[in-house]
Amino acid sequence: MFVDKVKIFVKAGDGGNGAVAFHREKYVAAGGPDGGDGGHGGSVVVKVDDHMSTLMDFRYKRKYQAPAGQNGEGGRRAGKRGENLIIKVPRGTVIRDAETGAIMQDMSELEEYVLCKGGRGGWGNKHFATPTRQVPRFAKAGLPGEEHEVILELKLLADVGLVGFPNVGKSTLLSVTSNAHPKIANYHFTTLYPNLGVIYVEEGVSFVMADIPGIIEGASDGAGLGHDFLRHIDRCRLIVHIVDVSGSEDRDPVEDFEKINRELAEYSPELAERPMIVAANKLDLLPPDSDNLERLRAHVEALGLPLYEISAATTQGTKQLVRTIANQLRELPPVTVYEADYVKPLAEAGEAEELGIEHFGDTWVISGPWMAQLINDINFSDYESRMYFDRQLRKSGLFEKLEAMGIQDGDTVSIYDFEFDYER
Ligand code: GDP
Ligand code: MG
Repeated sequence: MFVDKVKIFVKAGDGGNGAVAFHREKYVAAGGPDGGDGGHGGSVVVKVDDHMSTLMDFRYKRKYQAPAGQNGEGGRRAGKRGENLIIKVPRGTVIRDAETGAIMQDMSELEEYVLCKGGRGGWGNKHFATPTRQVPRFAKAGLPGEEHEVILELKLLADVGLVGFPNVGKSTLLSVTSNAHPKIANYHFTTLYPNLGVIYVEEGVSFVMADIPGIIEGASDGAGLGHDFLRHIDRCRLIVHIVDVSGSEDRDPVEDFEKINRELAEYSPELAERPMIVAANKLDLLPPDSDNLERLRAHVEALGLPLYEISAATTQGTKQLVRTIANQLRELPPVTVYEADYVKPLAEAGEAEELGIEHFGDTWVISGPWMAQLINDINFSDYESRMYFDRQLRKSGLFEKLEAMGIQDGDTVSIYDFEFDYER
């Protein structure tokens, strides 16, 4: 079975917690703080594997979780970091946000993409010793790893897409012109998964052609087999439309041609605009008294499209068709790579009531799930981002709460790995 679209849930590892510990040694009365930092959580990294051609591996495994970082320990021992979890995908996989469908990354040129960042490890108390705070009895919890539900969607990378009714000879054409060995049989829907073939034209000139399962009537409404496969020609630079003119299946070539074009347009108006070459196939079977070829030619040329006569089975005309395709490709823009358009929504503040507030001397240590998410999303070297953080804290009512608990100007507010001086 060919699998080319899956929904998976991925989660990066949480950061380990920092340790609270004090140095102990014989004859040394009170050692300094030496609690080590928590390790960073492992990230989830998506990586292209050119040996893969489907998303089949994802069929039974839908949840992916990178390991957490370990907690820090006394003696300044840092926790071990969680290893990154590598998810391998075939080239051409598009990663989308499952909720909005927005594109996060197209894995066709980029080899590696960090999909979910591991949480930072929390600092051990050795970090919090200052001249006025020599006995920091607190450390920080690690931050949570990012998580996301995403859709992986394979969109093949081919220069040329073959379209046409089932049984018109698409697979045959691919097999006689390329290195591919697609299944060929005289019944409909032989092709249950797309085939890619590399076609060598001459030294230094080659292109990739995709044979997708037959498009049938209603396919663009999801009624048939073809709909799911149309996405594999989304990126194509050129469409080669194959029509059986032999009349061997009692179909009308002009009607066939129009039906397929309607399917393409219904699926994607943009795809219907793609440059197209028409190939009239099975010429070897064309009865001498048939006007099929001439009717198709008149129809196609009236639309301003070129028509080539071939017999894929006997390879008559296929060389010339391949040359024409190669020449056209020279003029056309490269295979589409999709721009990411996903915008991560920033975490928002919850209520100050939900936070843990601990008070150590002049230091106020704040923690809680929404705060951890918020801190994760803030880039403290960016002014806008800091302003956003400030607005969110105000919104939560945190400062009123701290005031009520007796915070003084100049006290330190310590939130995970971020500290600032309190000022009214
Ligand atoms: P697809 O469904 O479009 O991929 O069609 P196939 O390539 O599987 O071909 C369907 C049937 O038509 C097979 O039996 C082929 O051998 C036959 N066929 C394809 N091209 C030609 C041709 O040019 N001449 C003849 N006589 N038969 C052909
Ligand atoms: Mg086929």
